[in-house]
Amino acid sequence: MDRAVVFSVAFCILVVVVVPSVLVRGCDFTVQPREEAQGSNVRVFVVATGKMSEMPLEEYVRGVVAAEMPASFGTEALKAQAVAARTFVVRRMRQFGGPGCAAHPGADVCTDHLHCQAWISGDELRRRLSYLEYYAYARKIASAVESTAGKIVTYQGKPIEAYYHSASGGSTDNSEDVWSTAVPYLRAVSTRFEASEPSFQQRVEFTIDDLERKLGVKLRQRKVSTYKVAGKDVQVVAEEKMDRPIEVLGASQAGRVKEVRIGDKVFSGYSLRELLGLRSTKLTYQVAGDKVYFVTTGYGHGIGMSQYGAEAMARAGKTYVDILKHYYTGTEVATYARLAPARSALH
Ligand SMILES: [Zn+2]
Repeated sequence: MDRAVVFSVAFCILVVVVVPSVLVRGCDFTVQPREEAQGSNVRVFVVATGKMSEMPLEEYVRGVVAAEMPASFGTEALKAQAVAARTFVVRRMRQFGGPGCAAHPGADVCTDHLHCQAWISGDELRRRLSYLEYYAYARKIASAVESTAGKIVTYQGKPIEAYYHSASGGSTDNSEDVWSTAVPYLRAVSTRFEASEPSFQQRVEFTIDDLERKLGVKLRQRKVSTYKVAGKDVQVVAEEKMDRPIEVLGASQAGRVKEVRIGDKVFSGYSLRELLGLRSTKLTYQVAGDKVYFVTTGYGHGIGMSQYGAEAMARAGKTYVDILKHYYTGTEVATYARLAPARSALH
C-alpha cells in the first residue's frame, strides 16, 4: 500500500478513535468531595438492576444530576440541581435520622423518578452520549457537584423536602393545592424569568370511549323516549353523551386542576394526570362531538424548583443560590456536615 495512504488511514484512526477515547478517559466522571462531605454513604436501590448499591453521597448526587437535568443546561442550573438532589437524599438518609425509601426497605433512596429521584451510573451516561458530548458534559456535571459538595437547602436549620419538576408553565404552586400538605417553603412563585421557560404545551385527544375505559366512568346517559306507533306506546332507549361530561370543581392559584368531575366520578388532578398520562394538571379541556381534548401546560407536578425555570434564571446571570432561594421560599443554602452531628436536629 502507498505510504501516504497508510499514513492517512493511521491519522484517521488516531483522530476518530484514539483521541476521543483518551479524552473521555482523561475526563474522568468522578467527584472529589470536600472533607466535610466524605464518609457519607448512600444505600441506593437501583431499579434497573433490581439490586442495592452503596456509594459515596457525592457520587450518588452526580448520577442524579446526570439523569435528572440535561447537561446542556447552564452551570448554575446544574449546581442548583446538584444541591436539590443532595438535599432530597440527605433528608431521607437514615444516617441523618431520615426515613429511607418507603418503597424499598433498607434503601435510603431508589432510582425510580416517580418515587425518589432518577439516577444513572457513569457507564450509563457514557452509553447515552456520543464521545464528544461525554467529553463536554461529564466534567461539567462532575464540577457542578464538586463545587457545591456538602451544600443543602435548609428551612429553620433543617434540610427541606426539595421537590422539583421539569417546567412549571409560568408559575409553581402551593404544595397544599397539588398534594394535601401545606409546606411553608413550597409556595407558588412566579417571576419574569419564567417567560423564557418553554411552555411544553401539549394537546391530547381522547374519544368518549377512551375516557370511559381509562377512567372507569360513564359519560353517556340512557334516554328513554316513548312514541306512539299504530296507536301503541313504543319505547326507544338511546345512549347520549352527558350535557356536561367534565366539570372542574377546584383549581389552584396557578391554574392546576385540584378536583374534577368526569362523568359520574370525581378525581383529584394528581390522579387524573396519572390515569391519562398527561404532562401536567395545568390544563384546559374542550368537548367536541365524540371527542374530548385536553391542553396541558408545563411538565411535572409544579411544586418546588422548575428545572427549565432554573435554566432560564441561570441564563439570566443568576447564581445557584438565587435559583434555590427563589423556588424554595424562605430557605438558606447551608453545609449539611455542620448540621449532621445531632441526628435528631435534622428532622
Ligand atoms: Zn424510592
